[in-house]
Amino acid sequence: MLETFSKLMEYCTYCPRLCQSACPVAMTEGNESFSPWGLMQTLNQLRKGEIPLDSELAALSYKCLTCKACTTQCEHGNEIPPVLHEVRKEAVARELAPPEISGFLNKFHKHNNPFSKDLLQKLKNILPSKYFDMNPQTIYYPSCTTIAKCPEVVHDTFELFEKLKIDFVGVYPEAIQCCGYPLISGGMEYDFIDLAEVNFHALKKYKTIVSGSPACVYTLRETYKKYDFGLPGKVVTINEFLEPYLHNINYRLKKSMRTKLMYHDPCYLSRYLNEVSLPRELIAHVSGYQPMEFFDHGECTHCSGQGGCYSITSKEASDEIARRRLEEVVEKKVQTLVTQCPSCVHKFRKNSERLVVKDLISYLNDSIEGVKE
Ligand code: SF4
Ligand code: SF4
Repeated sequence: MLETFSKLMEYCTYCPRLCQSACPVAMTEGNESFSPWGLMQTLNQLRKGEIPLDSELAALSYKCLTCKACTTQCEHGNEIPPVLHEVRKEAVARELAPPEISGFLNKFHKHNNPFSKDLLQKLKNILPSKYFDMNPQTIYYPSCTTIAKCPEVVHDTFELFEKLKIDFVGVYPEAIQCCGYPLISGGMEYDFIDLAEVNFHALKKYKTIVSGSPACVYTLRETYKKYDFGLPGKVVTINEFLEPYLHNINYRLKKSMRTKLMYHDPCYLSRYLNEVSLPRELIAHVSGYQPMEFFDHGECTHCSGQGGCYSITSKEASDEIARRRLEEVVEKKVQTLVTQCPSCVHKFRKNSERLVVKDLISYLNDSIEGVKE
């Protein structure tokens, strides 16, 4: 099961734990066994057959946000999440995964999303019917978490399209509104394959798929390929899609939006999709200012605590990770935090009462009045 990772694991075994301080799980839980080094020590023993895969070891494999912060600190570029995914898949297949994971799966199966809700109906309550009836070549894929937890982003995206005179984008109109990221992340591989196959047949007719959820873009663009469901059309982030319009169209800006703000890089946008400068450029373009930075930003960003099913199996610690991240915003006396991932928006809102947490698209929409005629 883990033989393909033997070299990586040996590097970790003899490493002086260079990435330990970058790991939010190890630092927050204060347990070296949960650090990348600690995880690889134990899983190397599993690889060599010195210890069995039991429920305790299965639970250990969920002590990771899959944030890849360790990779940026590692001189070998070691990627820890794929190792843990292998163990999670095996744990799920052998029914050894933590009970929270099987509970999650039961909930997921009710409406094919993690929220057990009819999200297509909710989407229809957010947007006018014209966006569902268009038969377009370009589609906006909202993401289940955006519809469930920050629906204003869907509304703001289409309002911004209207302001910029972008009239050819429809909304994804299918009953399944989840790309399957939570399934594959949690090791539920067979369920992911079933879902990805259905989504693939629904999505393959579009020339361009636009999403404001970095985890969805990565899953649809990269993970689907690994399972032979590579989509023929382009899958792009909302920033990639909007950039030419925002730079080339002459529009009016609201001056009142020039407030002090910080930008948080989501792990999937900065480290998985390498999109670091574009969000900052867009903020500067509409406000005239660069956003204030966290000490750990760009490709060295810290996770909000919501990633990789960690919030399902380690709820309290995952909230504590978010609160620690937000301490810096309070210290810098900033009242607006802008980011671009529905999981980060939800996590930060949940863990801060007084902070204004906005998705970048909502910020852009609030900043732009309309196109100059
Ligand atoms: S991931 Fe890299 S830096 Fe971290 S313990 Fe392994 S070898 Fe060391
Ligand atoms: S991916 Fe993130 S949470 Fe997982 S071991 Fe690396 S730093 Fe820690």
